[in-house]
Amino acid sequence: MALLSDWRPTTLKLADGREFHVRHAWCVGRNYAEHAREMGSDPSRSDPVFFSKPASAIVQADTVEWPPATEDLHHEAELVVFLGAGGRDLSAQQAAGCVFGYAVGCDLTRRDVQARAKAAGMPWALSKGFDQSGPVGLIVQADAWRPDENREIRLEVGGEIRQRAVLGDKIWPVAELLSRLSHEVTLHPGDAVFTGTPAGVSGLAVGDGVVVGIDGLPELRFEIVPRR
Ligand code: MN
Repeated sequence: MALLSDWRPTTLKLADGREFHVRHAWCVGRNYAEHAREMGSDPSRSDPVFFSKPASAIVQADTVEWPPATEDLHHEAELVVFLGAGGRDLSAQQAAGCVFGYAVGCDLTRRDVQARAKAAGMPWALSKGFDQSGPVGLIVQADAWRPDENREIRLEVGGEIRQRAVLGDKIWPVAELLSRLSHEVTLHPGDAVFTGTPAGVSGLAVGDGVVVGIDGLPELRFEIVPRR
């Protein structure tokens, strides 16, 4: 049991040791065409699908506990954008000016829970928003790193490459994605935005060591451990 006096906002570290407080975490589905196809949808006809994770699910941790009620926990390697300013109905250029920094992230997904919810026409929020479902690496400020199209994004499990693409494979680049999101909700400083995953998502197991990398950003490393 936790007490109100124990509550703290989600606080992440920058590569230079400073802190970033997370207000909310937005995510996008189907932002890489090959991943949209592997999930059974037609990327040429789909608008970005936005969803959320609670800020408390965003963690910088060496270990992630196996979540409850799943036998199919999937990894999704993603570029995560952190906002230092906000607004609504932003142009792509205005949205680009709101970016504070970037980190490597993993959108962990209870794929079996999600599939059952989809089949039943029910919301799949908790397939994505469980505790520790959004591990991220150290944040690098936007003046020190840019999401250039030729930068590789990759994910390894136990030394085996499972996902590999370049950021230019995204259907909606960062600025346009933020612009579109800002036409749905007001964006705020402190928001984190997971920008979608390339093809190759697959199941994890307890004991797996996961390494997620994007050229020029600090690596994200974590191990899946049993639920306590
Ligand atoms: Mn995702």
